[in-house]
Amino acid sequence: MPARDFFHSVERIGPVQIGTHRSRRSGETRHAAVCTSERCGWSADYANRSAAQLAARTHRCRVR
Ligand SMILES: [Zn+2]
Repeated sequence: MPARDFFHSVERIGPVQIGTHRSRRSGETRHAAVCTSERCGWSADYANRSAAQLAARTHRCRVR
């Protein structure tokens, strides 16, 4: 399960929320894309915001 503490600068693209957080392990700023759709559960971490935004835009829910 990804660490979701320290979320800020949250934005929403479709069902996907993008939040910036700081990784406790590496100390780097990471951009997490998390699908808020029930039963989808997709989430991924990206090193930069544009990558997370692209992933959010191209994400297709398995559940509709
Ligand atoms: Zn989804």
